Amino acid sequence: MPPLAHAKWQRRARDLRIGTGLFIDGRSCQAAAGGSFDVINPANGALVARMAYGTAADIDRAVASARAAWDDGRWRHMPPRDRMAIFHRFADLVEANAADFALLETLVMGKPVTDALTIDVPEAVVTIRYFGECIDKTSGSVSNTVHNAVHMTAREPIGVVGAISAWNYPLLMATWKIAPALAAGNCVVLKPSELAPLSCLKLAQLFVDAGGPPGVFNVVNGFGADAGRALALHPDVAKISFTGSTATAKQLMIYAGQSNLKRVALETGGKSPQIFMPDLEDLDVAVTSAVRGIFDNAGQVCNAGSRLLVHADIHDAFIERFEAIAATLYTPGDPLDPATTLGPVVSRAHQQKVLGWIDQGLEAGARLHFGGTADALRPGGAYVLPTLFSNVDTQMAIGREEIFGPVATLFKVQDEANAINIANDSPYGLAASVWTRDIKRAHRMVKALEAGVIWVNCFGDGDMNQPFGGYKQSGNTRDKSMECLAGYQQTKSAWITLE
Ligand code: NAD
Repeated sequence: MPPLAHAKWQRRARDLRIGTGLFIDGRSCQAAAGGSFDVINPANGALVARMAYGTAADIDRAVASARAAWDDGRWRHMPPRDRMAIFHRFADLVEANAADFALLETLVMGKPVTDALTIDVPEAVVTIRYFGECIDKTSGSVSNTVHNAVHMTAREPIGVVGAISAWNYPLLMATWKIAPALAAGNCVVLKPSELAPLSCLKLAQLFVDAGGPPGVFNVVNGFGADAGRALALHPDVAKISFTGSTATAKQLMIYAGQSNLKRVALETGGKSPQIFMPDLEDLDVAVTSAVRGIFDNAGQVCNAGSRLLVHADIHDAFIERFEAIAATLYTPGDPLDPATTLGPVVSRAHQQKVLGWIDQGLEAGARLHFGGTADALRPGGAYVLPTLFSNVDTQMAIGREEIFGPVATLFKVQDEANAINIANDSPYGLAASVWTRDIKRAHRMVKALEAGVIWVNCFGDGDMNQPFGGYKQSGNTRDKSMECLAGYQQTKSAWITLE
């Protein structure tokens, strides 16, 4: 699609048709209690949509629909090639609707439209294609055992999967759940974030337009404490697949214990370290990656490289280049302007939270180099200026807690061991990176780092074969990859005596 100018995106946004109902049994419907909630554009405070307010009664309806689809086998018993054909059409339809999806993401969470169009939507399409291709490529096995028996293992779907997703990549995070769940043959009820449900509703509609049977993929808009809780406690839900905060993840494990011991797969928060050693190849390349790693998506990325662990020998030069490069790459703007690289954070409430962390950093004695405030030029939006703190240590809250905003915290490290100690001194373990030219050092550090995803001399690179997920309190599962698909299957082991 040729690039659109700012004015064209604005016009397209005005003309956009937005679905606001729940999506149950293959069609849009109203909420049982009839209420609504507002989705607000964080760039200007304008109302984007008034959404049907799903509650526990709607979760019951959606799970019943998914359960009926599971019981009669309309999806899991469909020949694999037919399910694959639906997946291919589904991916094509998402791709054909790329501009609308990009707009929906931009309007509800302030993501620059260029990012939505070049990252979120294409990656969602690739995710659907990847798991679609897997449908007829997974199989069980027959083991080599005694001659008078046959032992086989089959990989079977689990049942109704409840997916609960976050707002920072609304379409993509939901797709990372629903695509493998559906490819494995399960039925799904998705509860998107109340801050950003619009693209998920469109996604479900396109699944049906692609030929997906009704009831196989349902969406209930609503809040965590109500619809989300009801889904996680539901006795007919076999698995919860979650992306969101560590605090909510802990609650979901309790709900599983209080209900049917459903599986709980968790992708949660992080405070990812990036380690810069003095023997790195090119300071500007490394610093540019560091800048992108924390300011992309206004820092609202689970694996954001929010802790910069910089060796003392390059500390001052690093800060000087970081400030210069950040100033050229990230200036706040209207997210509907294709030239904008930094939008607002997701909401006023989140803006206040991020500014609160910045105040704590100042009180704790960290040194502020730039940023640290809202954007005075855009008082109507929930903007936070890109911010860099140095002199941070592991005792400071800003050095330990996930801020989930455009706030970089820089630690001075003395050597490799000191860097590893600081990197691992965290309840989180989602991602990490190491910058060095020394191959032995790189391998040593990869082994020593407690993180599920590690990059060497890059940050954020990868493809669908790379399992994505965390160590420690960053989660207990993996998205993307065949490992992810296996998480939506269960193993049946059959021993057949021949005597
Ligand atoms: P959140 O935990 O507040 O909400 C996530 C989802 O959980 C939402 O849909 C919400 O409505 C629901 N929810 C909240 N309370 C609930 C409850 N008691 N029962 C059931 N559902 C409930 O998180 P958020 O603010 O939407 O997202 C930001 C967080 O997500 C950050 O911590 C970020 O690191 C994390 N995240 C992780 C990954 C990953 O892959 N590891 C990816 C993206 C975001």
